[in-house]
Amino acid sequence: MTVLENTPDEKPTASSAPWCSPVTERYNTRIVLTTYPGQSAVNPVPLKWGEKDPQERGPILVSRNGKTLNRRNAIGAHGGSYAFYSALAIAAGDLPVNFKPDFTNTQPTFDFPPQEAWGDPTKIVSMDPFGHDVVKHYKKHLEDGLDARPTIAITRATMRVSEVSDAVKIGRVPVDGEIVLNPSGDVRVTKVAVEPVWYLPGVAARFGVDEGLLRRALFEHTGGSYPELVTRPDIKVFLPPIGGLTVYIFGPPGRVSDPNFRLALRIHDECNGSDVFQSDICTCRPYLTFGIEEAIKEAQNGGSGVVIYFRKEGRALGEVVKYLVYNARKRGGDTADKYFQRTENIAGVKDMRFQALMPDILHWLGIKKIDRMLSMSNMKHDAVVEQGIPILERIPIPEEMIPADSRVEIDAKIHSGYFTTGRKFTEEDLKQVKGRGWECWEDVTH
Ligand SMILES: [Zn+2]
Repeated sequence: MTVLENTPDEKPTASSAPWCSPVTERYNTRIVLTTYPGQSAVNPVPLKWGEKDPQERGPILVSRNGKTLNRRNAIGAHGGSYAFYSALAIAAGDLPVNFKPDFTNTQPTFDFPPQEAWGDPTKIVSMDPFGHDVVKHYKKHLEDGLDARPTIAITRATMRVSEVSDAVKIGRVPVDGEIVLNPSGDVRVTKVAVEPVWYLPGVAARFGVDEGLLRRALFEHTGGSYPELVTRPDIKVFLPPIGGLTVYIFGPPGRVSDPNFRLALRIHDECNGSDVFQSDICTCRPYLTFGIEEAIKEAQNGGSGVVIYFRKEGRALGEVVKYLVYNARKRGGDTADKYFQRTENIAGVKDMRFQALMPDILHWLGIKKIDRMLSMSNMKHDAVVEQGIPILERIPIPEEMIPADSRVEIDAKIHSGYFTTGRKFTEEDLKQVKGRGWECWEDVTH
């Protein structure tokens, strides 16, 4: 059994081995590979997930810094995947091991009203409902030297999206001075960034699997990086090294949780190639900008518009797998009937986004119903409805916004059950839906 013998607060000890001096300069303790419940030096601050009073619930403490090491009640690290850059910065000597952030003036620009779901351990399982007000709720812990950190940040911004600017220019979206500020199409928005915080029993329940199995799978398939998933069943919270999400709110944010206001919502999963670089093989950016435009219009009509952007690149398979699939599609005859099969051949599944955790953010925002859902995805629809949030109308992407080469994707999705108000496709039809062939694609000099 590994024992915590001293804390990083103690002075570094000189080492006689010159090769380890750079390490001991930063880390003056023995390496603790894992911990076990009941160890004398393990004394976690109580954390009761699902308590509606943030004091009763307790802060989430995951850091191994200073006093927090022995008081930790969560596994993983802050920052999602960016935790690794912090580690690099510390190794490079750019960041002190025990750095303490100064949170002055970082508080939210809008106080989201507390929702019942914040105190319901079944409604929110993949984010910390008090993650935006850590400094306010856990001031005492911070003053005691414990390293509590926000996992949600709320700010205001002005954004300009070229498709929206075009819509303003031709008069499809009016300039109102409140949401659309000027004829250039500058749009006022409230933004909420959220890092993932998983309550493991809740995540397991959402997927209908045993918590022990979930822990073992997370341990094994992260290269054994988080042994406490196995050795500390008493710790129920895990901050996984994955991307989070961003909420974009158009119109007064207070309307979002008020069912008297209409709500238009787009839930979008990241597709960097299309969203940012406007490649034409899929409908991602067109649907995103359509969603933004419709969200703006709903807010201008006295309602509320929300776009939620999830970092789940390439159906959460990542961009490398995505490009491998593109090649297999283009070289193997890019027809809609083979669309999903090409992904399954390489990734083993056609989709790893698993929308089961997605509705947490809707519960956090206090969304009770969705008047206009700007999505054709049956998986997103079913996940939201299963969480007790009715969807009153579903709006497919307009035909004229679908790039020619992306017909393969959208027609295959419609055939597989995606919502459409247009034509449904037969298997025979799908064989005829072809993307741009590799003949005019492979030999292009870039
Ligand atoms: Zn895409």
